[in-house]
Amino acid sequence: MIKFSEITKRYPDGTLALHQVDLEINPGEFVFVVGPSGAGKTTLIKLLIREEQPTSGSVFFYGQEVNKLRAKELPFLRRQIGVVFQDFKLLATRNVFENVSLALEIFGKRSEDVREVVEKVIGMVGLSQKMNSFPYQLSGGEKQRVSIARALVHNPKVLVADEPTAEVDPGLTWGIIDILNKINLAGTTVIVATHDPDIVNTLKRRVIGLDTGHVVKDDRGGSYEF
Ligand code: ADP
Repeated sequence: MIKFSEITKRYPDGTLALHQVDLEINPGEFVFVVGPSGAGKTTLIKLLIREEQPTSGSVFFYGQEVNKLRAKELPFLRRQIGVVFQDFKLLATRNVFENVSLALEIFGKRSEDVREVVEKVIGMVGLSQKMNSFPYQLSGGEKQRVSIARALVHNPKVLVADEPTAEVDPGLTWGIIDILNKINLAGTTVIVATHDPDIVNTLKRRVIGLDTGHVVKDDRGGSYEF
């Protein structure tokens, strides 16, 4: 489903972020990408959604070479890969419903269809009671739930979360992880970049370890340590 083949990424300033990375992720997997800050986790995600291009090597998504897609093909790729960011990226002047629906309206859907999908995904993350709240009225954990709902509106094949609990109170971390786990159990492939050993050691899923741009571990049912 997702394949990184001999991926090397060097940023224009010379920083080597990934070096000769080979990875395959299959449909339905739950994968943690772990490693210290600067290991290359975010770069890996950016290459998958074509926010960055590799210096050498290829990224494949369902057999299509992501780094060769034309600009007009990118929206199709990005609808299939929902992304959750550490800092939520919510619009401060829009309420929960609007933050989630905006992603759909851009694609010109009818308003009844938009409402149905938006209410469904907001329900999936347990925020039906907060549909009309604005971001400033929400906790970090709730904001992250909104961003998960937004990532789900196109019913993506993959959900990618980059440090989804970094800006969330420790007490609310498990609520977020629980939602990601349920989304995975419902059939969506989930990829979570984190440097939180507790989460990784508790869930016992596949763990890909990165360190200074190298894959140093790939363990099924693994733990954080490497
Ligand atoms: P992680 O997500 O594991 O913290 P990143 O993928 O963000 O790691 O970064 C990997 C390396 O690439 C780091 O050394 C980081 O400083 C560097 N880096 C990330 N983005 C850029 C950029 N746009 N330009 C130059 N260097 C970058």
